[in-house]
Amino acid sequence: MSEPAARDEYRPLDAARLRAWLAGLPAREALGGDPGDWRVREIGDGNLNLVFIVEGPAGALCVKQALPYVRVAGPSWPMTPSRAAFEWAYFETVAPYVGAAIPRMHHFDPQSYCIVMECLAEHVILRRGLMQARRFERAAGDVGTYVARACFHTSDLALPVERKMQSVARFAGNHDLVRITVDLVFTDPYREAARNRHTSPQLDDAVQALRADDAVKIAAARLGAKFLTEAQALIHGDLHSGSVMVSVDETRIIDPEFAFYGPIGFDLGAFLANLLLNWYALDGLVPDLEARAAQRLWLTEQMRSFWNSFSDCFLGLWRGTVAVGDAFPASTFADPGAAAALDAQRRAYVEALFADMLGFAACKMIRRIVGFAHVADLESIADPQRRAACERAALALARRLLACPREFRRIDDLIDAVAQARA
Ligand code: ADP
Ligand code: MG
Repeated sequence: MSEPAARDEYRPLDAARLRAWLAGLPAREALGGDPGDWRVREIGDGNLNLVFIVEGPAGALCVKQALPYVRVAGPSWPMTPSRAAFEWAYFETVAPYVGAAIPRMHHFDPQSYCIVMECLAEHVILRRGLMQARRFERAAGDVGTYVARACFHTSDLALPVERKMQSVARFAGNHDLVRITVDLVFTDPYREAARNRHTSPQLDDAVQALRADDAVKIAAARLGAKFLTEAQALIHGDLHSGSVMVSVDETRIIDPEFAFYGPIGFDLGAFLANLLLNWYALDGLVPDLEARAAQRLWLTEQMRSFWNSFSDCFLGLWRGTVAVGDAFPASTFADPGAAAALDAQRRAYVEALFADMLGFAACKMIRRIVGFAHVADLESIADPQRRAACERAALALARRLLACPREFRRIDDLIDAVAQARA
């Protein structure tokens, strides 16, 4: 019989208890041998949770446990471990639509908030790869396709209202994590707040200017309101380059603990923002000018490929599906003239997602430079002058995206603007 990892009380796992618990699960077959032969390592490098790799003679498993507090902050910042149940629920919900783009899920224990999943031993975190100026040709296109599939199939375009509402209700319980996004992405960066930090004093003037820019603050607040109100699809909620694991020919999405029903553009913007932040960080990461220029060109191609894969896949699903969703009901657009009108509307819908993507990308870039959680791409630049120069340029682009959204109609408008955004 399998025992919960903590029988009486919920405690963080250690190697011995993890071994004993796994020994009672069918998933142990993936490991082979006896529990005594298994090697257990805690490898979590994220902000929130414990992550163990367990290796046996036949293979490996990954076990992720949510702690009742934020790992990087310690018990002084409590956080509900029920986020693990939402992570599991997200994987369960999108699995039928995304194939092998997520790790294979083996088991969830609601008492100890533990997920047992496939170990991605051959894969690296995309952010780590990009920081070394490595290229993963499939990654951005695969993530675009992934967002299209996961979001289309969980939206009102594909689901009848009863199923959609049940799913909305299931994920509405994840409000503690939504609270974190509201505070850290849409609120704190635009005001003085204890958890904020930036490269100081080098960026003091830019941060002050940002917090005094009413047009930018209104644009960010409008996106914050959209985040709260637009239950467009089930979104991952934290789809940055640290939530993507890659090998040369595979791309996997991990860590959807922030999942809830929100705007599709939020997932798109999160990924795009992290490609952009990496682009700006390359000034500090790659000293060789030629190598840096080549990597930047490749990155902008990835941005294009990301958007094009998303929009092609999303439109293809919408056009190709015998839609049973209640939004844009197919039965009211049956004659050829109406079908053409519906297709124009589909394109308009995707154009609106493009605008949302850029707006949310801007918010995500800003919060990584002036808010609580920064990105390793920029943080690893030791020289503060150099780091601040990268951050200043990234901030300038983000402010432009928020202040002048009409200048950005197509992905090439963004790519043209990237290089010019030097404050
Ligand atoms: P957190 O929510 O704490 O950020 P993540 O889900 O991002 O946790 O996992 C933290 C780290 O653990 C990842 O950056 C990755 O290095 C590793 N990891 C997560 N899931 C797997 C997996 N299925 N296989 C191998 N390594 C993994
Ligand atoms: Mg996480």
